[in-house]
Amino acid sequence: MSTASVNDSSLPPVTKPASHWLWVAVSTPAHSSVSEPLSYLSDAPIAPGTLVRVPLGRREVLGVVWDAPPDGAVPDLPEGVTPRSIAGVLQGVAPLDASWRRLTAFTARYYQRALGEVALAALPPQLRDLTPEQMARRIQRKTRKKKDMAGVASAAIHPTPAPVALSDEQRRATLQIEAEDGPFLLFGATGSGKTEVYLHSVQRALEADPRAQVLVMVPEINLTPQLEARFLERFAPVYGDEAVVSMHSGMTSAQRLKSWLAAHTGEARIVLGTRMAVFASMPQLALIVVDEEHDASYKQQEGARYSARDLAVWRGREQQAKVILGSATPSLESWHASRSPSTDDPHGGRYLRLHMPSRIGAAELPRVRLVDMGQQPRGAVFSPPLLQAITERVERGEQCLVLLNRRGFAPVLHCKDCGWKSDCPHCSAHQVFHKIDRTLRCHHCGFTQRVPHACPSCGNVDISPLGRGTEQLEEQLAELLRNVITPQRRAARVARIDADTTKAKGALEEQLAAVHSGEIDVLVGTQMVAKGHDFRRITLVAAVQPDGALFSSDFRAPERLFALLMQAAGRAGRDADYIAEQGGNPPEMWIQTWHPEHSLYTSLRRHDYPRFAAEQLQERADAGMPPFAYQALVRADARTQEAAQAFLTAVSERAREAQLPGLDHVFLFPPVPMAVQRVANVERAQMLIESAHRGALQHFLAAWQSVLHAERANHKAVIRWLVDVDPQAI
Ligand code: ADP
Ligand code: ZN
Ligand code: ZN
Repeated sequence: MSTASVNDSSLPPVTKPASHWLWVAVSTPAHSSVSEPLSYLSDAPIAPGTLVRVPLGRREVLGVVWDAPPDGAVPDLPEGVTPRSIAGVLQGVAPLDASWRRLTAFTARYYQRALGEVALAALPPQLRDLTPEQMARRIQRKTRKKKDMAGVASAAIHPTPAPVALSDEQRRATLQIEAEDGPFLLFGATGSGKTEVYLHSVQRALEADPRAQVLVMVPEINLTPQLEARFLERFAPVYGDEAVVSMHSGMTSAQRLKSWLAAHTGEARIVLGTRMAVFASMPQLALIVVDEEHDASYKQQEGARYSARDLAVWRGREQQAKVILGSATPSLESWHASRSPSTDDPHGGRYLRLHMPSRIGAAELPRVRLVDMGQQPRGAVFSPPLLQAITERVERGEQCLVLLNRRGFAPVLHCKDCGWKSDCPHCSAHQVFHKIDRTLRCHHCGFTQRVPHACPSCGNVDISPLGRGTEQLEEQLAELLRNVITPQRRAARVARIDADTTKAKGALEEQLAAVHSGEIDVLVGTQMVAKGHDFRRITLVAAVQPDGALFSSDFRAPERLFALLMQAAGRAGRDADYIAEQGGNPPEMWIQTWHPEHSLYTSLRRHDYPRFAAEQLQERADAGMPPFAYQALVRADARTQEAAQAFLTAVSERAREAQLPGLDHVFLFPPVPMAVQRVANVERAQMLIESAHRGALQHFLAAWQSVLHAERANHKAVIRWLVDVDPQAI
């Protein structure tokens, strides 16, 4: 146990004889080696989980009273250190319960971070900043409002609105969810009505226990408004508007605090949120839903690099809440974990797989058409048959979606005379050409410049874009379709949705509304538009240049590509009635590829995720990769690549010298530069650690922490290091 330092005479001395020891989790700066709660004194005993203000150095900070260590209730203070007292208790906020404390403690342990850092980061930021007085006022205001509202709320309560009649597949899934413990992997085609299964299961959970709470997670903030609307529509009439709250980083601090308090007090019955919501304090948690469970955004990419999906499963088991993971293209980890028992695998996986292969109503999955780009005119962005198909759809008044996972106009500018390329001066990456404001922008460090008038290296005025991004695609498509007339007798309209067009608040909602209302005929976009949206009139989706990921060095690249293309295909032909009205032309997914024979595309053409997964899993098993092995990455950032790698080499040598536990079952790879080696003038190297046993890897990493901290002192050129457990990108 560590103790708050007190060599600071500016602070008031301890006045009253305080007699109770408290262990308090506080956020100490990252990478200080303080990973345990600090000890403080208090006049009275205070329950674990209570929020307190405590002195830390010269500051006063928020802390969470933690459980006393099992080995005695008196800390072992170093010589000359005087204990300090807590500054105050945040009145009116009930203590965080034991299961919340176990969740955050597990997260810190598993992802190799300090407990205080994880626990405090899991609380809404405003809780950290408000004084106890401000906090008390907040809570008072809230209770007063609640009293005023009491009459209104009860008047607004109606009987449960009649839910839609479930399809057979939906009914079977919901019955199994009710009957079994789970965790469940709901493997349902795009448009099979997974959301309806969630809604139904949520309703059952809430009805079964008048205090039960439910957590529903979605990968993107963009998807929360649509989901929130559906949940409000279904549940607000029964439980009131206050019963459904959101939690994501797009909310103001005040809104986040409000939602957090509502969840913590149990007033909120349903919490909808992004990955951060997995840490919401929900004392009566009965059900967790993780929608699009394969999505990469469930993995936090800084601080504690947790997987909200994996924590959801852990939390569900710990708090005895059911867990539903849903996807049309599950992560291979979850797919493998939900395998059925077989003769040489009598137990099967830990999850229960529920299958919903059919779309709702008569809707069919789109036909997948592969265009062999080797057979098309050279240099064509849109192959003639694809352009023809888009034209026909638009002329019939249908909508098309064109997917290209790269924003900007062109990924690089170059000079044909001398070979100059628009490299970022600070990164080992090109600066992307954005035509709209004639800038070169680095998507890694943000460095932005005006486009030069001539080649900076040889003076040639003829510098040109190489490759293409969404901005160029939009421009070219508008040009190609300029003579196409819609049934409303107007020219075809092309629009683009990507991170550049949606920066302003509300911009995405506006642009999506324009698509839904039919103002837009062809939508060009990045993966942002491929996921989740329930478009009703899109009948054709095209991926113009998806091949890149087929040959990536990251073994998860094919998995991500397959998921993205399936999701994109899932945006087409969702409304069977509309397709029928239009004359019954089946929806289509077009893929322009140089490798039409590739097995990934064969599986895609058949909408055969199980085939794709089986192939990938076989490859992974043969190569001893996840889910058949467990990995961690250690990354070091330094002024030079040599320095970064030297640190990593040293820490693996120290680990071997010290014969750290677990080492027998853990393999340490040599350090290598990261794929993008230099970002913002910092060199980055990484080292992979792998084991067939999760436990051995965990043992080793835990023992290694102090080695990493200690060795850092010998490597002055190292700027930072970090550990990523279960990394998603290698
Ligand atoms: P998924 O999440 O599986 O892609 P959704 O939950 O968005 O699918 O459902 C697809 C569409 O089908 C939605 O418009 C939804 O309202 C509708 N739907 C879902 N279940 C039913 C049902 N049982 N009866 C009628 N329509 C349904
Ligand atoms: Zn850069
Ligand atoms: Zn030049």
